[in-house]
Amino acid sequence: MQPDGALTVEAYAKLNLGLAVGRERDDGYHEIATIFQSISLSDTLRLSAASGDSDELVVRGAPVPTGADNLILRALARLRAQTAFAPVRTELTKRIPVAAGLGGGSSDAAAALVGVVALHGLSLGQETLGKAALDVGSDVPFFLSGGTMRGGGRGELLEPLPALTGVWFVLATPARAIRAGDAYARARIGLTDDEGFIRLICSGIRERDLPALAGALRNDLEPGVVSLCPSVSSLKQQLLASGAAGAAMSGSGPTVFGIFEKEESAKSAASRLRGRGHTVYVAEPIDVGYRISTQ
Ligand code: ATP
Repeated sequence: MQPDGALTVEAYAKLNLGLAVGRERDDGYHEIATIFQSISLSDTLRLSAASGDSDELVVRGAPVPTGADNLILRALARLRAQTAFAPVRTELTKRIPVAAGLGGGSSDAAAALVGVVALHGLSLGQETLGKAALDVGSDVPFFLSGGTMRGGGRGELLEPLPALTGVWFVLATPARAIRAGDAYARARIGLTDDEGFIRLICSGIRERDLPALAGALRNDLEPGVVSLCPSVSSLKQQLLASGAAGAAMSGSGPTVFGIFEKEESAKSAASRLRGRGHTVYVAEPIDVGYRISTQ
């Protein structure tokens, strides 16, 4: 137990193994079909009681907003609109690249929600937490559970899939941040709203058929993001040339990932890929969205 009752939450990043983008709805969101996968790249949140009378946030690592725009503070404010709790101090160690298609901000928001429930022993239903999560962003409900899930609607209609095991991912993140709005504005909707590949990814996961899964990886936002960030295309080619069974962009990009059967092949592909202008990570699938510890 930490001396001041503090706790830490490991907030895992996600990949979108597939992302099909459909029509724009009346509320401005696109209808999507996606396969979310939690991965072993994470941020760490340390939560404790705040000394003052409002929530406090300290960020180490990559620069993100520290004011009310931070998704952690936004999540706490949305939860407080539903239930009262004492102010919280969060120390965030940021490792997940920002605005990179890996859902780092959404994962931090979900981790703050589950963290404050544990810190203050709040007795809340999943519904209350789910509502606060969706108020913060479309991907946040996924991070409340994590693992391997099919997402529909704007990403919040979740259906668990069997845990993906026995694969490794190599991620390459170009230095350029992509705003999700810019990626969606360039999506080729109408040409690409066929969800067949999402079904193929689901059956590849269910049948533990790596070639089938790898062959179906696709992201409808990728062609539009390539026009903003051409290295998405060259990094994808390099991943395939380095032995990836399949490769695609994650979320709204620009991170590209390749899928490998063996850890050694993933690590040797990663060392060949390291270079200027992008960052390379090796990660494995995780079957939860976060881990809380009081140690
Ligand atoms: P997605 O995959 O869900 O599209 P992303 O990985 O592309 O998300 P994030 O890293 O979550 O994007 O960041 C999106 C924006 O949110 C950035 O512009 C960033 O400044 C802002 N932001 C606010 N709070 C955070 C946070 N705690 N961590 C990361 N970004 C944050």
